[in-house]
Amino acid sequence: MIAILLGAPGSGKGTQAKFLSAKYGLTHLATGDIFRSEIAGKTPLGIKAQSYVKAGKLVPDDLVTEMVAARLNSKEGRYLLDGFPRNLVQAQALSSILAQEKMSVNLVVLLKISQELALERIVSRRVCSQCGEVYNVQTKPALNGKCGICGGAVVLREDDFEVTARKRLMVFEDITRPMIAYYQSEFIFKEVDAGLKPDEVSAALAIFVDSIFAKS
Ligand code: AMP
Repeated sequence: MIAILLGAPGSGKGTQAKFLSAKYGLTHLATGDIFRSEIAGKTPLGIKAQSYVKAGKLVPDDLVTEMVAARLNSKEGRYLLDGFPRNLVQAQALSSILAQEKMSVNLVVLLKISQELALERIVSRRVCSQCGEVYNVQTKPALNGKCGICGGAVVLREDDFEVTARKRLMVFEDITRPMIAYYQSEFIFKEVDAGLKPDEVSAALAIFVDSIFAKS
């Protein structure tokens, strides 16, 4: 079972990916989270990726696809891909990785959101620098800037500063959006309105995923 969650930065991919992976027993593979943890650990991959992530640019395709290939295997078999693929080269690379493992993509969801709302959400987002828990200055503020789970400092992600966030939204429009056609024509594809409340988005996603399971 391979599910792909697509959406611009700020569309709520992380939140919905957590919901879907828990509900359907999928391993959540979030390339952005992996890069952030490699950068924090100052690993060779983190050092190579750092300047791209900080600038809101895409990390080179070979680094990303190698990293994903190393984490996908047919024994585990059930994955939710979040933040990958992000362009046509990565989509084609994923198809060949999956073919080698005798797996294929079962469903693709696009979280649809306006650029204005996405930007508003990104600049209000804060994250715990230790455990990664996500906060929001309006809807889920952190008490005294500390994480309620681990006590870590809750901060604005470096690539969530407005100027970088705008760049990431442009990258999505210019590079990722054209890739979506690859899946629209080939796979079981659904667009969900990500402007709704998180619970409503989750409910819409669950109806779609259940319908796919019912057919298979
Ligand atoms: P995200 O948390 O998914 O918004 O990703 C944060 C950053 O990680 C992006 O702005 C890119 O710099 C990098 N990144 C994550 N996934 C990919 C990918 N599939 N291809 C290239 N860069 C990526």
